[in-house]
Amino acid sequence: MNDECRKRAAGTVLLIMLLLVGCSQSGHDGKVEQVGEDARDVHLAEVHWTYSGEEGPDHWGKLSPDFAPCSEGLEQSPIDLTNATTVDGGAFERRIGETALTIEQRARVMNLVDNGHTIQVTNDVPMALDLDGKHYELVQYHFHAPSEHTINGEFAPLEVHFVHKSAAGELAVIGVLVEEGEHDPIWDPVLAALPTHDGESRHIEDLELDMSELRPLPKRYYRYHGSLTTPPCSEGVEWFVMAEKRQISPEQMATLVPLLDNNNRPVQPLGERELVLVSVE
Ligand SMILES: [Zn+2]
Repeated sequence: MNDECRKRAAGTVLLIMLLLVGCSQSGHDGKVEQVGEDARDVHLAEVHWTYSGEEGPDHWGKLSPDFAPCSEGLEQSPIDLTNATTVDGGAFERRIGETALTIEQRARVMNLVDNGHTIQVTNDVPMALDLDGKHYELVQYHFHAPSEHTINGEFAPLEVHFVHKSAAGELAVIGVLVEEGEHDPIWDPVLAALPTHDGESRHIEDLELDMSELRPLPKRYYRYHGSLTTPPCSEGVEWFVMAEKRQISPEQMATLVPLLDNNNRPVQPLGERELVLVSVE
């Protein structure tokens, strides 16, 4: 085990401890069970992977039999969002979960962890996504820099992934590309609490974070069937990427981006899949 792996193992232990604390404090069983785009399972977390070099994206599929979809999958993410079929209406319907905490949709507790691949955030407010008759709940959100999805071949400096999970374990991810522009105060509490090295975690209380502002309802979005963008690259993920970029200030961008260290997987072939651009009015 080299130093980096040792740090990662320590990070995994911290993450598990964090989750246990989160579960006991949040009081809604199973909602904080840490799935997501990154491998949450300890077995998978033991397989070391990176974003460059011999354990980089071109080699993920060979690092473990569990990672085979990374090289053999036909419906992988991210993709370049281009030549989409435009359709009216949409399946998106945001609904807030039914607990007293969600009346104001304000999160008071925030847990952040640098898991060695990204900075991942969880809050105490259940955020739901009802889609095609299925109910998903937000389990975590995290960051990639530069963006993983591109729009007509162009990267944004940052992409946020809001990872939702159904009771059956299906994943739906909302991707938001972020560019430099206006200061967005909604992100300040998150940016003020960022962990700065692998394995570090932070627990924040007494927040006033408006989750509906953080994860807004998109008016136009790309939709396609894809995968996790990190090993094990599992497919069957419903992807929604907002067509409009959000903005944060150059100062906000400079606070976050250097901590992410180019954690974006290259775009994957669309193949036989359909890419649609949905307008909701
Ligand atoms: Zn992601």
